[in-house]
Amino acid sequence: MSTLDANYQHIVARIEHACRAAKRPLADVKLLAVSKTKPAAQVRACYALGQRCFGENYLQDGLEKITALVDLADIEWHFIGPLQSNKTRAVAEHFHWLETLARDKIAQRLNDQRPDHLPALNVLIQVNISGEPQKAGVMLADIAALAKTVHALPRLTLRGLMCIPENTDDDALLRQQFEHMQHAWVELSSQYTSVDTLSMGMSADLELAIACGSTEVRIGTDIFGARSTL
Ligand SMILES: *Cc1c(COP(=O)(O)O)cnc(C)c1O
Repeated sequence: MSTLDANYQHIVARIEHACRAAKRPLADVKLLAVSKTKPAAQVRACYALGQRCFGENYLQDGLEKITALVDLADIEWHFIGPLQSNKTRAVAEHFHWLETLARDKIAQRLNDQRPDHLPALNVLIQVNISGEPQKAGVMLADIAALAKTVHALPRLTLRGLMCIPENTDDDALLRQQFEHMQHAWVELSSQYTSVDTLSMGMSADLELAIACGSTEVRIGTDIFGARSTL
């Protein structure tokens, strides 16, 4: 068995275990394989193991892989990095999901630039759940206004919320932030029937995230190994 295969089976087993512990069906939790900085050949190998959803942080790096892997018709690409307004067109034209929406202006541009022959772009609002000033995302109190904007745009579909919590060993603090996300997401999903996704949990904290209601965990290092910088 290759390292990738072994890593992949290990992550799938961790997700299964976490779902069982949280008394949730396995089908509730989607695995997003974060392939940023990794070559297209590794994405292809992971696809061959059955993985379909991949996350990219850097536009150029992601676009090269999307081009190299066009033959994989049912692959799903999520943009999960920071997005400046002058880079929205490439996301609108080539990705299936954007997970880091935090501004009205970006939503408007994506809507205008989404090609008519593609289905609406799936969008998650990124929430700055730790409130750290350097972190991207909207505050909890500002979710409703941005959700309303997205809902009104026909070429976008509001699918839910995403967060990157504080980088901390304090499990109680982490749990508190995940629970705040869960409450906000439950409220949002009661308002919009299109909302079905809560993207939270990474390699180190996927068990806690699943216990707190996550429906999508984003795993890079524990599948593909450590990253080199671009
Ligand atoms: C890199 C990244 C991940 C994956 O992190 P790992 O620690 O490598 O599992 C998840 N989410 C986002 C937004 C990322 O940028």
